Amino acid sequence: ELNSQKLWSFYESGVYSFDDSNAVFVDSVRVLNRFYHRFSVSPSTYYSRFFKTQTTPNSVSSTVTSSLRKRKRRRSGSRPLNERELIALQRHQEARPLLLAAHECLLKSTEVLNALKTLKGESSCSTRECDGGQRSFVDLGHVAPQLEVTLSLRVSDTDADPHPLPKEDFPSGQCCVQKVLRAFNNVVANDTQDDAVAEILSNPYIMPRESCFYMSDLGQIRNLIPAHADAGFNLIMVDPPWENASAHQKSRYQTLPNRYFLSLPIKQLTHTKGALVALWVTNREKLRCFIESELFPTWGVSYAATFYWLKVKENGSLICDLDLFHHRPYECLILGYSPGKVNNTDNLSEFKPVKNDRVIMSIPGDYSRKPPIADLLVDHVPGLKPPRCIELFAREILAGWVAWGNEPLYFQDSKYFVKK
Ligand code: SAM
Repeated sequence: ELNSQKLWSFYESGVYSFDDSNAVFVDSVRVLNRFYHRFSVSPSTYYSRFFKTQTTPNSVSSTVTSSLRKRKRRRSGSRPLNERELIALQRHQEARPLLLAAHECLLKSTEVLNALKTLKGESSCSTRECDGGQRSFVDLGHVAPQLEVTLSLRVSDTDADPHPLPKEDFPSGQCCVQKVLRAFNNVVANDTQDDAVAEILSNPYIMPRESCFYMSDLGQIRNLIPAHADAGFNLIMVDPPWENASAHQKSRYQTLPNRYFLSLPIKQLTHTKGALVALWVTNREKLRCFIESELFPTWGVSYAATFYWLKVKENGSLICDLDLFHHRPYECLILGYSPGKVNNTDNLSEFKPVKNDRVIMSIPGDYSRKPPIADLLVDHVPGLKPPRCIELFAREILAGWVAWGNEPLYFQDSKYFVKK
């Protein structure tokens, strides 16, 4: 009885919390689909890596594993670990029991494992192919910064719009408002309660309710600083384009040297009541070191906790061996607080300070796409409810959020959605 209630709430929310544990399982597709009315994200486009490996025989994954095994063998057989590698290994050893315990919860939960098995069956395929042909917003921003976006909004009587543009009647008692706006270096908002369609060069992108994007290069990010600090943000999610040796990553998106991240205006984006800052970091000790000794101090952020994102396959197993040295099946989310400008100490009593060491398990989506985990953070966000949220270096747009980056519409392309 109790279990089926939990399962029902998992189907509703996309989040399953294991009893007496810091572990949760997140079905990213279910979480995202709570944001849309007329469209839905299909599991086959989100979990495309899993759907692809199903059609090709095991050969691909076994080549990857064997090359990783070779790498591991080489690593352990060659020289002794240097100082930084030793620290990394120690961090890993500390996290290990926690990750194993969380994974154990998942493996024991037949109801979650059974729910995962149904993923393929539920999947309705998007009409268009999902790989290749992605328009590069980075290039467009350089060659055609004046490009326009046509926003089609469904406005109901409750969404007051003092200046509706050309109106067409809608059968449902709603009407459609079209707005033509600059696509780059401009705030483009869907302030309605319904999905909106944003068209650029005849290609449709889907925007969830009450969302907003600002598509620009890092040079323009200061335009997002609110004129008044009480219009600042309470939750700031950052997934920087960290430099990485992998040529694979280089072809996906442009990366930036660490010093550029020092200049992110975190203080100025912070709400007067303070903000929870959530920073994704890859498993490189050099980055962890940089965050602790330079980045957080420069941003004025105090470290609070670390969460782990443990990546699993559709059968619940880890995507690779937990102890591979250069390739871990998990990434870290470093959490910290950016103090507000108001000088009141009871700020702290307004929210639950974030607890250390949560483990979030999910099936990964496309390359470097992070699971939507805002639900797990809201209780720990200072200030307003609902909090004002911004994502920096975003490639998708969440309901209720401002998305900033040089390609925030990337995963909003209609090819990732199906019409309901
Ligand atoms: N969190 C995202 C997701 O889940 O899909 C992934 C973000 S990815 C790690 C980093 C993003 O930063 C990429 O979209 C990249 O194009 C963008 N980026 C790189 N250089 C940038 C710059 N100079 N200005 C703005 N965005 C930049």
